[in-house]
Amino acid sequence: MDYLVGQERVTRALASALAGDRLGGGLLFLGDAGVGRERAALGLAGALLCERRGAAEAVPWGCGMCGACRRARAGAHPDLHLLMSEAESVRRGLSQPDGKRRPSPDILVDAVRELAVRLRMAAHQGGYRVAVVLDAHRMNASAQNALLKTLEEPGERTVVVLLAPHERAVLPTIASRCMRLAFAPLAERALREILTARGAPDAGERARRAQGSAARAIALEPADDGAKGSGGGALWDALVGGDGAGGTMSERLDAAEALGKERSDVDAALTAFEAQVTRCARASAAGAASPLPWGHARALLDRVARARGAIAHNASVQLALEELVLAPRFADDGRAR
Ligand SMILES: [Zn+2]
Repeated sequence: MDYLVGQERVTRALASALAGDRLGGGLLFLGDAGVGRERAALGLAGALLCERRGAAEAVPWGCGMCGACRRARAGAHPDLHLLMSEAESVRRGLSQPDGKRRPSPDILVDAVRELAVRLRMAAHQGGYRVAVVLDAHRMNASAQNALLKTLEEPGERTVVVLLAPHERAVLPTIASRCMRLAFAPLAERALREILTARGAPDAGERARRAQGSAARAIALEPADDGAKGSGGGALWDALVGGDGAGGTMSERLDAAEALGKERSDVDAALTAFEAQVTRCARASAAGAASPLPWGHARALLDRVARARGAIAHNASVQLALEELVLAPRFADDGRAR
């Protein structure tokens, strides 16, 4: 499967800009969530940081094989800086909520200034420095103005990629300094290809209902629902079990190991497990009988989301599943034990 599915125009434009050395210091990736903007930004970062940079196979998403590409695609390269709001960082499990106040949904001016300082420092690996601003429209005017200086005078070999839903979501002064690329909603065919590669059940049905977004397609519950007969059942037994507390640690690790062997089944298992836990959370919230207290169900859903995120960023499937099953055990009163 291609690294980026269904965005041929964008792929061609970036390939030709890279090949002709016309990339510039600012790029604006426009489109809805779930159409591949972030994947493209990380892939492009890979191409700039790739150990085989310039080779034909490294255009426009990097070779995908070298350490630099793998780290960039996972968002974990020292010369790749991801800028996001605190709320987004908490949602992705990258930082802990502070507990006293709600995490800010905005990208604050201080964070932008800090990024600008980092981009002026020498690159760790002596090559490019790449910044990706997720949800650039979450920067208020002063945050955007702070970024403007970086875009006006980008250091040599510095590239800033901004993700936004549409051009009007950022200041005209920002947009005009960037190469703008529009990501169209994904065609059903592309969605089917993405779902099939992930081993997701009901690829055709989900692709039809997903309105062009791969994220939505993956999040949709499969039509036949339920955890019966799939790895979802094994996860349920390991994490919830008969009394709501799940199996012992070694039973849990065995379940993770068994499931991790079949990478293609993992997505389906997580989806089935999620559907079952969601039903419990709804029942519990409505005051109906449920094997899971609401708080426990929410905590499990968060852990599933974190496991999915790690797997999507090419982390080890086995490690992500172990992390998932080693959730704290819950007693009948809903407290961890
Ligand atoms: Zn590479």
